[in-house]
Amino acid sequence: MKFQPVASHFINGLYTEDATGTAIDVIYPATGEVIAQLHSATPRIVEQALSSAKVAQKQWAAMSGVERGRILRRAADIIRIRNYDLSVLETHDTGKPIQETTVADASAGADLLEYFGGLAGTLTGEHIPLPNGDFAYTVREPLGVCVGIGAWNYPTQIACAKAAPALACGNAMIFKPSETTPLSALKLAEIFREAGVPNGVFNVVQGYGDVGAALVADDRVAKVSLTGSLSTGRKVYAAAAGGMKHVTMELGGKSPLIVFDDADLDSAVSGAIIGNFYSSGQICSNGTRVFVQKGIKSAFLERLLARVANAKVGDPMDPEVNFGPMISERQMKIVKSYIAKGREEGARLVCGGRQLDRPGFYLEPTVFAEVTDGMSIAREEIFGPVMSVLDFDTEEEVVTRANATEFGLAAGVFTKELTRAHRVAKGFEAGTCYVNTYNLAPAEAPFGGSKLSGVGRENSKLAINHFSEMKTVYISMNVLQAPY
Ligand code: NDP
Repeated sequence: MKFQPVASHFINGLYTEDATGTAIDVIYPATGEVIAQLHSATPRIVEQALSSAKVAQKQWAAMSGVERGRILRRAADIIRIRNYDLSVLETHDTGKPIQETTVADASAGADLLEYFGGLAGTLTGEHIPLPNGDFAYTVREPLGVCVGIGAWNYPTQIACAKAAPALACGNAMIFKPSETTPLSALKLAEIFREAGVPNGVFNVVQGYGDVGAALVADDRVAKVSLTGSLSTGRKVYAAAAGGMKHVTMELGGKSPLIVFDDADLDSAVSGAIIGNFYSSGQICSNGTRVFVQKGIKSAFLERLLARVANAKVGDPMDPEVNFGPMISERQMKIVKSYIAKGREEGARLVCGGRQLDRPGFYLEPTVFAEVTDGMSIAREEIFGPVMSVLDFDTEEEVVTRANATEFGLAAGVFTKELTRAHRVAKGFEAGTCYVNTYNLAPAEAPFGGSKLSGVGRENSKLAINHFSEMKTVYISMNVLQAPY
């Protein structure tokens, strides 16, 4: 098999196998073919990963931040040199078009390694003057062994978003990819080793949810960073609470995207397309509730349908293709069930809605209009190429309706009126807001959710706080007095 890795796991600098673990078939979503076969980690593999990470972390933390940063930036350079090969692998793992993976996956991972590699040498504490010449100082210390658990939509980017700040701070990481997309994290582990990351500092273990659960439960683990669904997030958060472990939770969303009647219509349509159909709609921050002001509703829909008709659906390895298959048959079935619910509950299907008659897990880009707030497709995260268009009259009304969700990952507004743009952004209950753009997540800016969309932030300097803690040291320059 063309994409068969040397072994399933990467521990202590070496590929490692235990063939008694449950089999994992890696399926190419464009054809349904099995492209690699792996094994879920057994307790022996989990133990090897934990014990090697525990030892290696001390050695890594003893290096200077500048040295760690240099190694991370070297890893970024290797990723950039191998971007095409890594993108081909990512396309086979996820089904995402090569047009996307060459610009948004390994290269986004390289951005993160460069950014946090650059920060590694700047991580210092502070000096705090106290009375009579006494003082305190703070030391920024790594947490220890961190566990990263990933979703299947951006396997390389997610692995780097967790590993880059963790390693910059001097932690070790054990990363468990989604069992649906296990391949690229192994390549990342190889690249880290080649760049000079000491053995055991970045380990990959494969497996289903039970492997993630075993890692989270272990006393040697200080921190868990999960990208996944709300239901998994609740389980992982609860398991981490027993050991009072640090957590970062990057969970789901049902984000609003508001288009006012003064918006630049083509930009707004672009925002709706990027925020619903990129990666076949499998993006947590997607603006799946598109609120369009009534006066421009028909113009918006007309322009949208004309643009969606130009989507080039097909073989994701064809550089012209910009819309690929869903990740799995299971996910496709979930999305189809939402399309059926949309119809049953009275939304108007204006385009798409069907599975393509070809091998693989292809669904058409789908748009529903006349969607109302109570419908299932307007309330629940679908995680597929299904856009719901809703109408609104006033700013006050639409902001209230936009916030009427348990999620708070992202939100967007398209308008030319400056003060309204800022007012609406201030009114949004969401971790990330976009004005006249959508779905950016650069390494430099914080990304994460409020409400049930998560805890903590990834990217940016804020991520450093989630992978390190401060020790305060008090120094007395005087003779110490006591009452007796
Ligand atoms: P899941 O929640 O099903 O799985 C996420 C990861 O957690 C997988 O690796 C999974 O393993 C693992 N897992 C499952 N159960 C447990 C457990 N009890 N303990 C520890 N780990 C466990 O999410 P999906 O992979 O289906 O991804 C889609 C979801 O991810 C969507 O809700 C989406 O919104 C969210 N997401 C959020 C992002 C963000 O940044 N906020 C970005 C991308 C996606 P296994 O797959 O083997 O079950």
